[in-house]
Amino acid sequence: MATCPDCLADVNNPQSRYYRYPFTNCTNCGPRYTIIQALPYDRKNTAMAGFAMCPACAREYNNPLNRRYHAQPVSCPDCGPHLRYLTSAGEQVSTHEQALRDAAKVIREGKILAVKGLGGFHLVCDASNNEAVATLRERKHRPAKPLAIMVKNKKCAEQLVSCDSKEWEALESRQRPIVLMKKNTDCDAFVSPDLAPGIGCLA
Ligand SMILES: [Zn+2]
Ligand SMILES: [Zn+2]
Repeated sequence: MATCPDCLADVNNPQSRYYRYPFTNCTNCGPRYTIIQALPYDRKNTAMAGFAMCPACAREYNNPLNRRYHAQPVSCPDCGPHLRYLTSAGEQVSTHEQALRDAAKVIREGKILAVKGLGGFHLVCDASNNEAVATLRERKHRPAKPLAIMVKNKKCAEQLVSCDSKEWEALESRQRPIVLMKKNTDCDAFVSPDLAPGIGCLA
């Protein structure tokens, strides 16, 4: 489940102990099946086993009135996993927020970044950079098959695509699925025409 509005509010709130913490989650959002190694679904049987909850997280976890009550992956900057940025040779360059800044920098420079997500690796590049998209296609041996694009919000998506309300509903649903939408006529002015060449839709 995509990060819920309440957790996003925590991440954006400088007073919150989850401020700018990328792994913020609660019972309404966050990972489930992808982190389970065995049943029953308890923290010790998940990828979170190595991260002992700090007292503040434990208080939320044990409070039935808190939305993090029995949320197995609950964690914060004090006790949870952190971002790391590595070179292609596997050398660690930076951690925490600096890792995020370094990752953003290489994307802006037109390079390709492998993001380790919950379910595997995700290859990312600047969708508006023709050269970066071409390099990604070459390395993936994927000459023409459409690539999906990530956008910040609905407003950004509206610049590129149009569709019925049902499709917007799907795009903004808790699952945040990849949704196929009709390209706007001037879509190529904003993103590489090589994202989905010869096709009227963008994913
Ligand atoms: Zn949440
Ligand atoms: Zn914690």
